[in-house]
Amino acid sequence: MKLSDRLRKVPPYLFAEIDRLIEEKKEQGVDVISFGVGDPDVPTPQGIIDTLIREAEKPSNHRYPSYFGLPILRETFSAWFKERFGVTLDPEREVLPLIGSKEGIAHFSVAILDPGTVAVVPEPSYPVYSMGAILAGGSPYYVPLKKEHSFLPVLEEIPETVLKESRILWVNYPNNPTGAVADIEFFKKAVHFALEHDLIIAHDNAYSEITYDGYVAPSILQVEGAMDCAIEFHSLSKSFNMTGWRIGFACGNRDLIEGLGVVKTNIDSGIFNPIQLCGVHALKNESNSLNRMREIYRKRRDYLVEELKSMGLDATPPLGSIYLWVKVPDGFDSVGFSKYALEKAGVFFTPGNSYGPSGEGYVRVSLTVPDERISEAVSRLKGIF
Ligand SMILES: *Cc1c(COP(=O)(O)O)cnc(C)c1O
Repeated sequence: MKLSDRLRKVPPYLFAEIDRLIEEKKEQGVDVISFGVGDPDVPTPQGIIDTLIREAEKPSNHRYPSYFGLPILRETFSAWFKERFGVTLDPEREVLPLIGSKEGIAHFSVAILDPGTVAVVPEPSYPVYSMGAILAGGSPYYVPLKKEHSFLPVLEEIPETVLKESRILWVNYPNNPTGAVADIEFFKKAVHFALEHDLIIAHDNAYSEITYDGYVAPSILQVEGAMDCAIEFHSLSKSFNMTGWRIGFACGNRDLIEGLGVVKTNIDSGIFNPIQLCGVHALKNESNSLNRMREIYRKRRDYLVEELKSMGLDATPPLGSIYLWVKVPDGFDSVGFSKYALEKAGVFFTPGNSYGPSGEGYVRVSLTVPDERISEAVSRLKGIF
């Protein structure tokens, strides 16, 4: 028996040791408060649940969905996009529903990479860009995101030899894990760079709606020339507390959308119709829920930043995402600090280097923990600093 070489290139699960420690703590009876996963704690808005129940009752919704999604879903996304970003998308050819954006992000690598080709991937980052590349037989070339460059990639530093082998450049703002945002000037530069070097540019915009203090996140498709080289990934998971429901979108250049569609047609069979109709409902009717969520995260952000600073930690409030990217105190590395907080306070933060070597020296703190658990974590942490 032999598994594929590609599979053996997927690095061992970095959280394995930490997971073991969390489990060990729990077995000792410690009530661990985890700031690890970015999975909203607040329930899905009731209007979305009601839509699911109503639509699930209809036998016409029980059969295979269409591969490319219900026309009403594509049209709703396109209308939402026009209103939100001022960009017109053809719902037939420039929009593709996904079974969550992770699915589309991973399968997009299959659509564009061949063995021996390269994907330019920022690090620290959401792991799917690089793992998708490896599983497609390509390899990632990592570009560090550094604080001194506001966690934006320095594109000019990518060697010409690498660019020759590269098919794609991944970007993600508001950013997981750093919480950094990028303005439209950055996207203009990135699109220009992609066109100049014959690269596809893929923007993961999963946190486009989770922003604070009046900051409004752009779409890369607002940039002139983007429709010639770019694809953007959107998700309802974080905006509408729908992580378990699995619905998102790809949009942008029609050849890229078509390519991703071909991969998907041969692998999956679309999204359960009632969930597609929940997506329609969410985009059309749940902007109040979204505002409520932003306010919940903003309060948690402000409270945690304040408290962490009072303990002497270096935390700054992000303008987007659901994460604080916190520098670990002197004398610790990421894993050491994570273990210390878990051991002494039963509080778990994700070591920053789990997202790439440039994440060393940080931990990621997810804001998806109920308010009272956050206060409890703060009082425990105060006891160890
Ligand atoms: C959560 C997340 C996603 C994907 O979520 P789906 O639930 O698959 O839509 C994509 N990118 C980033 C950066 C994320 O944090």
